[in-house]
Amino acid sequence: MYVAPPRDTRAIGESPGATDDTRLGECVLAALADAADAAPDRLTDESVVTAVETETVERVVDRRLTVSDTLHERELSREKVARLNVGRELMPFAAAERDRFIPEGYAGGFATFLRTDEVRLSTCGACHGRQVTTCPGCNGKRLTRGAVCSRCEGSGNRTCRTCGGDGESFTLGLVRRRFTGKTAQSLDSGGKPTRIFHGATGQRVEVVPREPADDELKRETERYAVPVTTVSYEYEGESYTVYEVDGRPTATTLPETTSSGGSRLARLLGRR
Ligand SMILES: [Zn+2]
Ligand SMILES: [Zn+2]
Repeated sequence: MYVAPPRDTRAIGESPGATDDTRLGECVLAALADAADAAPDRLTDESVVTAVETETVERVVDRRLTVSDTLHERELSREKVARLNVGRELMPFAAAERDRFIPEGYAGGFATFLRTDEVRLSTCGACHGRQVTTCPGCNGKRLTRGAVCSRCEGSGNRTCRTCGGDGESFTLGLVRRRFTGKTAQSLDSGGKPTRIFHGATGQRVEVVPREPADDELKRETERYAVPVTTVSYEYEGESYTVYEVDGRPTATTLPETTSSGGSRLARLLGRR
């Protein structure tokens, strides 16, 4: 199991690492000034870094691949059954063993399995054993515009497409299985504004297989470590906070936006 490293909180000036912390804080501020149009031009010059905290928060991603099955039938001629493309049209497992097929990843899709106990050879349902069906060129009237129908040469019939003229066809019982990937993620923000984590991925720490539920084929939990640096600073006598989350600077409040509010902030957040 993943255990988050202990927090490292130091007020500037209280520890031997103060100089490094200050430098780190100034780097984050400089990155913010670069990334945010709304940041004051003199943000980097005028700000005083007062505290820097580095920590790791945990992002948990739960992935499931669910399945739902529907029954279908297909009527095919002997010849078409013999040429059936196993692996492309049909899965190489019988429907009874379909849980053996576990797709890679969680993207979702479809697969068709044959119900081997539901394969019947019987009188063709399309021609009722007559081996022919009505010619679509002349509708069985043998003539088109007063001339002999060229498609059936006057017979009024054509070879049955379903059975290929056998009069008998196979009915195949099929299971069409739909795979659907579902992802849920949660993040323990440790009391920080959750929006600063938008788009943050972090480093994958581990993947833990989980027991799938009845309608699931597989399930796993991924744990990610998201590095967060919290920089407190003062600008013109007011206190502010900027975060570096997964390597990107982000702030919920900027010096110029504290009184005028939303639009610049929205622009800042929109850039992320
Ligand atoms: Zn015809
Ligand atoms: Zn037929």
